[in-house]
Amino acid sequence: MSDQSETLSNLLHEERRFPPPADLAADANVTEEAYARASADRLAFWEQAAERLDWGQRWDQVLDWSNPPFAKWFTGATINASVNCVDRHVAAGRGDKVAFHWVGEPEGDTRDLTYADLQAEVCKATNALIELGVQKGDRVAIYMPMIPETAIAMLACARLGAPHTVVFGGFSADALASRVEDCDAKVVITSDGGYRRGAPSALKPAVDEACEKTGDLVRNVLVVRRTGQDVAWDDSRDVWWHELVDRQSPEHEAELHDSEHPLYVMYTSGTTGKPKGILHTTGGYLVGTSFTHWEVFDLKPETDVYWCTADVGWVTGHSYMVYGPLANGATQVMYEGTPDSPHKGRWWEIIQQYGVTIFYTAPTAIRTFMKWGDDIPAQFDLSSIRLLGSVGESINPEAYVWYRQHIGADQAPIVDTWWQTETGQIMISPLPGVTHGKPGSAMTPLPGIAAEVVDDNAQPVPNGSGGYLVLKEPWPAMLRTLWGDDQRFKDTYWSRWEGLYFAGDGAKKDEDGDIWLLGRVDDVMNVSGHRLSTTEIESALVSHPKVAEAAVVGAADEMTGQAVCAFVILREAAGDGGDDIVQELRNHVAHEIGPIAKPRQVMVVPELPKTRSGKIMRRLLKDIAEHREVGDVTTLADSTVMDLIKSKEGGSSSDE
Ligand code: ATP
Ligand code: MG
Repeated sequence: MSDQSETLSNLLHEERRFPPPADLAADANVTEEAYARASADRLAFWEQAAERLDWGQRWDQVLDWSNPPFAKWFTGATINASVNCVDRHVAAGRGDKVAFHWVGEPEGDTRDLTYADLQAEVCKATNALIELGVQKGDRVAIYMPMIPETAIAMLACARLGAPHTVVFGGFSADALASRVEDCDAKVVITSDGGYRRGAPSALKPAVDEACEKTGDLVRNVLVVRRTGQDVAWDDSRDVWWHELVDRQSPEHEAELHDSEHPLYVMYTSGTTGKPKGILHTTGGYLVGTSFTHWEVFDLKPETDVYWCTADVGWVTGHSYMVYGPLANGATQVMYEGTPDSPHKGRWWEIIQQYGVTIFYTAPTAIRTFMKWGDDIPAQFDLSSIRLLGSVGESINPEAYVWYRQHIGADQAPIVDTWWQTETGQIMISPLPGVTHGKPGSAMTPLPGIAAEVVDDNAQPVPNGSGGYLVLKEPWPAMLRTLWGDDQRFKDTYWSRWEGLYFAGDGAKKDEDGDIWLLGRVDDVMNVSGHRLSTTEIESALVSHPKVAEAAVVGAADEMTGQAVCAFVILREAAGDGGDDIVQELRNHVAHEIGPIAKPRQVMVVPELPKTRSGKIMRRLLKDIAEHREVGDVTTLADSTVMDLIKSKEGGSSSDE
């Protein structure tokens, strides 16, 4: 076998570089010295990061790694996440500072909550949970729209030491039921509904159905009235938030919990199969998220207005909307609805209105805006923006440059942040005041993080080659196990190579040693003995001026083992792309990265199957490319998308 069959082919080349703006570099929270300091003494580095929080009892040990892969951080210490996120800012005289500028989807429906407001609401909600009999250690499921009560509910659970599991509001009753069952939740917090795409969208009926499916498991359902729509009501189980929470005392003396006390269980987005219940605990998680939020986004809590568009139903909403930013005393925007309600400039209008300075979103959203056209953001004043972030998938170089130009005024650095539900915190990212960013690369592991790209024998690959992304040392916000399944935890992440955490992603190191994420190892294609990454071919397609989004899969092929099949969404300005679009795109890929990557087939489609967090579900496209029955679609954002794509099958494809 050739070398190329063993490692991921490294095909795409990128010459562009963007140094940090001088003023940002001069005043950056974290500078170059941090790398050396962290590598000299990693645990001392994290210990210093821990000093940014308020603890009760101090720790005996920074890290207990005596029983790998089960890590314990800040052993013996006590801490309360809710107090760190809320009360301490009020105690420090910052009670009047806005914590959330909340923006409802219906225009004009807004609410500002200061840290003092948040403290009162969190205490009331905590007292309400106590009245419902929730005790430390009990699990609470949260199935909510993007409203302040969602963050309040999470912080109330954290305060009490009752681990929460937030289930994305777009998931079905079945998905909710299986999560409630898996973590044995006693209480579900929900709302009548929320606003999406200009209309109220119900949530309570799915909770009712999930409760039915799970027998007597759920004792109470606490319901926020958001839309005022009609709901079925079970008097023995259902309680209105405004009736129970509003009459509670706004004071609650918080208990300190052990550093390793469970904070929450979060199910992964399920891109690759059955979702896993990732367990995060308190002390290390809060250190990892609050420190990296301050570091990577260069947060200046006094002046910045930060907006992370992620839904709270996935990990980014936990680490970089609730726990990290609030622990840092940030002022943020929280938006309920979709980016196109009531018009396609809604996000930019919000940035203009609140003077957002730091903006964090996903490549899928950026590509959607590219599809809609440059003229839309151009109608708004986005000059407040000083830093942009990206998470969830690799950002294609073309999308990066578009984001920088059209949202960042060709000034704002972009932090492409690689991490996972499992890692809890950002692991690989540029430092905005240090790194000379390259479009498409997540660059280097953050200080204190030991990431490497290795070959089949766990040896680091040389610069210029591809392989598997692994983590070599424990980090504070790492998952502790899979809920109730230590064995699956070991098998899934720690079994491939002794002592290494395998993330499941392919990556390459370029000539400078900078890291590029190449997509899931499971999605890698083997074409005539070359292992090709999905990401590089997708990025080549997106670099064509007519293409907005692309997904690539390998389908069985008699000649080559596997053949590249591409699904593309065109930009609106490109119309139907013209008669030769398929040939044009095939040639474009061959020209950009080489004939080996030339797709056998290109299908122009109106939509792509995505999870609720916006990730493309390639395994479903593979089913189509191989003419199979389409597999499990339960974690899809919109299950009708697959019918749309199937109806196009055989349409605009081509075989040579
Ligand atoms: P499941 O594990 O159930 O299949 P998932 O992996 O999609 O779901 P998440 O934990 O939300 O669930 O996503 C983490 C994955 O997202 C990473 O493993 C990686 O594949 C991808 N990812 C996240 N950020 C980036 C990034 N900046 N660049 C490239 N890929 C990224
Ligand atoms: Mg994953």
